[in-house]
Amino acid sequence: MKMLGLIGGMSWESSAEYYRIINQGVRERCGPTASARCLLWSFDFAEIAILQTAGDWDTLAVLLVDAAKRLETAGADLLLICTNTMHKSAPEIEAATRVPLLHIADPAGAAVKAAGHKTVGLLGTAFTMEQPFYTQRLAEKHGLNVLVPEADDRAEVHRVIYEELVTGKVKPASRATYRAVIKRLAARGATAIVLGCTEIMLLIGPEDSPLPLYDTTRLHAEAAVAFALA
Ligand code: GLU
Repeated sequence: MKMLGLIGGMSWESSAEYYRIINQGVRERCGPTASARCLLWSFDFAEIAILQTAGDWDTLAVLLVDAAKRLETAGADLLLICTNTMHKSAPEIEAATRVPLLHIADPAGAAVKAAGHKTVGLLGTAFTMEQPFYTQRLAEKHGLNVLVPEADDRAEVHRVIYEELVTGKVKPASRATYRAVIKRLAARGATAIVLGCTEIMLLIGPEDSPLPLYDTTRLHAEAAVAFALA
């Protein structure tokens, strides 16, 4: 079994899910006592969020590259950034390390495409929805037409992530908001939704959506298990 290197803590609410899904996946395939060989570098998300809000992506890249190198030195065979947003630093990490990086958009994009969808709605932080690093990857590498919510909806989706989900709060009112946003994306032509933030699955599930949901946390973690056991 290969060693997985997780760059997490962004937030720990979703890193805990990664740890659970990866270990469950190894148990299912290798037997009841089996568990994943993995390393976790866990950031203090308060520091990360301040830098994100300040738009200091250069410092963020330095921090993530440092974590990636430590995991590489410790023996990781594969690196995972356990957040969609911080894939903004993926190019810097790939340039600074020799082990492969499993980009979170790839298992999601491949699954959406394999199911025959052409137009997907994307939910995530404002950074993920509005900057090109993520939507472009889905479009160019996976041939998908990506719809993001309108400005007011984007602001609310973003607010719920930072004020609630990363702080461990799951509120029915926010679930209703997300359901309404998904309905509006469906009305504009989306036939599937990418949950492009690793905490959104804490808030909504298939029962909240008329469209199929592609949960990046689960797809990313399951792809890592497949790599580890290949
Ligand atoms: N975990 C979230 C994501 O997948 C948001 C937190 C962050 O900005 O890293 O984008």
